[in-house]
Amino acid sequence: MFGWTPKRSDNSKYYEVLGVSKSASQDELKKAYRKAAIRNHPDKGGDPEKFKELVQAYEVLSDPNKRHIYDQYGEDALKEGMGTGSGGVHNHFDIFHSFFGGSFGGGGSHFRASRQKRGEDVVHTLGVTLEDLYNGATKKLSLSRNILCPKCKGKGSKSGASGACYGCQGTGVRVTTRHIAPGMIQQMQHVCPQCRGSGEFISERDRCLQCNGYKVTLEKKVLEVNVEKGMENNQEITFKGEADEAPDTITGDIFIVLQQKEHPKFKTDFSDLHVEHTLTLTEALCGFQFVLTHLDGRQLLIKSNPGEVIKPDQCKAINGEGMPKFRMHFIKGRLYIHFKVVFPESGVLSPEKCRSIEAILPTSPGKSSLEMELDDCEETIMHDVNIEEEMRRKAQRRRQEAYDSDNDEPHMHGVACNQQ
Ligand SMILES: [Zn+2]
Ligand SMILES: [Zn+2]
Repeated sequence: MFGWTPKRSDNSKYYEVLGVSKSASQDELKKAYRKAAIRNHPDKGGDPEKFKELVQAYEVLSDPNKRHIYDQYGEDALKEGMGTGSGGVHNHFDIFHSFFGGSFGGGGSHFRASRQKRGEDVVHTLGVTLEDLYNGATKKLSLSRNILCPKCKGKGSKSGASGACYGCQGTGVRVTTRHIAPGMIQQMQHVCPQCRGSGEFISERDRCLQCNGYKVTLEKKVLEVNVEKGMENNQEITFKGEADEAPDTITGDIFIVLQQKEHPKFKTDFSDLHVEHTLTLTEALCGFQFVLTHLDGRQLLIKSNPGEVIKPDQCKAINGEGMPKFRMHFIKGRLYIHFKVVFPESGVLSPEKCRSIEAILPTSPGKSSLEMELDDCEETIMHDVNIEEEMRRKAQRRRQEAYDSDNDEPHMHGVACNQQ
């Protein structure tokens, strides 16, 4: 189908396990299975491994579709996932349950999914300063995680042995079935509460004293997180296989997500930095210089060009003084400087000072404002206003009016009716 030909492997083992011939009928299979299952059930002192084999064998041979695949290609073909199209079940585990669920005292067996499951990944956040991201830093993050108990090596018992859990017959799950229509069964799986999904039972006497049979113990660990130059807010650093350990599980990863704390002076925008600087009106007009301490402690001298006037909200940039790029930290973004200009308070300038400023700064073309022709003009008075506050109040008034007129409407209809 996909250019893959399943190789032929042993296709008689399952028949031997059940002690039947290759031509056995479904009825013969069932009888043979029942006999063998009762004899080998772990509850009656049977070998769990043997029992598991029995269940696997019967699971396959009792399904005509799977039996056909097994007869043709052997056990390996079934492991590759062929034949899962039968009956709309999801995986081998489900198939196993759907076949075995009702046929032996409502229980299952010691069958376990052959593929190792993967443990969950863990995400931690780590607060960093902008200085850390600019210069690089090593941060220590202490956390606790589960590790396989070193005393029992994750077995949970002193002897290393365990039996099948009674609650789930060793499967780790409880399956409840529900007839939802003739011939249709809905299945629900729950993690077995007795063994917490391990499928095992360890007698109290044999329990490992260090982990109390839980197989894992808590370990306090300090992770050294290498924050590299040029890393960004929300960037992830991965510690492969450092998450919680669990038996028969591939350990998941720890993800450290950097959370940049706000900087009092600098803002970032990818590889660029932004800083605000306030100038007096005099500095804006006559020139300025100031020292800016950068994130690595260097003192940058920033000054205007001779004769240059800076307007309010004007912005200038210095190349190569932004954030370093991740893993190419010789490349740096730009440093933007946003200028604010503060004007002197009212009353600071006397009429004489004003005249001397007027003498220097250009006003309306040609004339000083104090010498304009005013004979045909009307006098006006200006008030101080807080324009934002006034606009807010106005909008509120409009909303109130709209609400009032909405409420008037039914009343208006009433009036119209009366007039008819
Ligand atoms: Zn259980
Ligand atoms: Zn232990």
